[in-house]
Amino acid sequence: MATAYDALHAHLRATSLLGSTAALLAWDQETQMPHGAGDRRAEQLAQLAELQHQRMVDARVADWLAACESDPRVQQDADRHANVREWRRDHTRATRLPGRLVAELAEVESKAQQAWASARAKDSFHQFRPWLERMVALQQQKADCLKTSGQARWDALADLYEPGMNAADLRALFAPLRTALVALRDKLRGGARPDDRFARQPIDESKQEAFVRAVLAAMGFDPARGRLDRSAHPFCTRVGADVRLTTRFRPDAVLDALGSTMHEGGHGLYEQGLEDTHFGTPLGEAVSLGIHESQSRLWENHVGRSAAFWRWCLPVAQKQLGTFADATADDLFRAVNVVKPSLIRVEADEATYDLHVMVRFELEQQLIDGQLGVANLPGEWNRLYRDYLGIAVPDDKHGCLQDVHWSCGLFGYFPTYTLGNLYAAQFTAAADKALGGLAALVERGQFATLREWLRRQIHRHGRRHSPAELCRLVTGAPLSPAPFLQHLEQKLAAVYRL
Ligand code: ZN
Repeated sequence: MATAYDALHAHLRATSLLGSTAALLAWDQETQMPHGAGDRRAEQLAQLAELQHQRMVDARVADWLAACESDPRVQQDADRHANVREWRRDHTRATRLPGRLVAELAEVESKAQQAWASARAKDSFHQFRPWLERMVALQQQKADCLKTSGQARWDALADLYEPGMNAADLRALFAPLRTALVALRDKLRGGARPDDRFARQPIDESKQEAFVRAVLAAMGFDPARGRLDRSAHPFCTRVGADVRLTTRFRPDAVLDALGSTMHEGGHGLYEQGLEDTHFGTPLGEAVSLGIHESQSRLWENHVGRSAAFWRWCLPVAQKQLGTFADATADDLFRAVNVVKPSLIRVEADEATYDLHVMVRFELEQQLIDGQLGVANLPGEWNRLYRDYLGIAVPDDKHGCLQDVHWSCGLFGYFPTYTLGNLYAAQFTAAADKALGGLAALVERGQFATLREWLRRQIHRHGRRHSPAELCRLVTGAPLSPAPFLQHLEQKLAAVYRL
């Protein structure tokens, strides 16, 4: 006779199949779908979201969970115990959201995303504004449903992406970070700014694509269970057993294409590193967005922007791109590490990136708390860019319309980018120690040693440990900005010859 655990597992595994089907439709929407198909796609996604939600709040789920929680055979089995604990968390959250709100959110997310793409192309905040107003109102309703007593709306949303994280803890991490980053920026003004003009020469996009594919293959991204395509905003999504990455190209920005590809590739390795035998259960899912981002930033910044990496990569670049003949590995290392406050977060350097995140963190808390109206968003955005980054925003396309997130309903999500940077630095320091020096491996192109260490230490655990527990297990310490700041200061002292 099937146990409650077996019944629960079968039911929720089938629900995961619906989720991965929705992921395929969402991927298609961003990469292939003709734009005239948008409204029906929104209906399809809404239908799937509603079905998944109905299955999660099914009364039998509550019964099965209760039976599992009082069954010693389940409680004494580490895997089952962890799955039941996490399923309980998902179920509790789902039962707090009415089905009609879930369906409305899915439909508006899909349509608002299309409205955002069109508004961004035309640099028209005016066109996007009603969609964002509707989205903020829906997110406020969602937060009111989710929040526990005494919890702030924004914290309830943030907990969806980074379990256990809240605005107060983030402020404690961000305040010293902001001070140190601003001081570092000022210090670099006295250094030798690298000349990166040689890296901005136009290069055929097909050559750039061959180059980034070669690097992705060296990282060990498995093409039998993955793809790389193009989209306006690079992303990574898992579709059942395979992982879809996207990147983007501009003729004069080959290093940006490389950075985006290594970034999404890092996300992809995490998804490919989850145990397939756990598919459809929490142990087969990524633990949090912050940990996910640590994997992308680790490959993008700690590997891809290191001196050792360019000793390996320069000949690969020369071969695939047919350029950089006169450049040295040190020229490339310095060119990818130029610090220059800029307008676009995804193209920002490592030393100013987190200031972009802090702008969004401030603004979205105010939007969700109702202190800031959507109509005043562009003005506030531009003001904070002057304050935090010291630059003037020329138009909304380069300002508050640049990111897809809010159109997709991702509020409470941005800080996970900075958490990712902090986790990445702390994990890299631990890997360096455990593997007896990362640089020696990276300069020989032996990426497999690092990839397998990450798989063992982080990927294969899925949601077994909370992000905070995982950080302690892997690094022996709680999350701190110190390893990140030490990494930046050391590297930039070399780049700026300080
Ligand atoms: Zn990312």
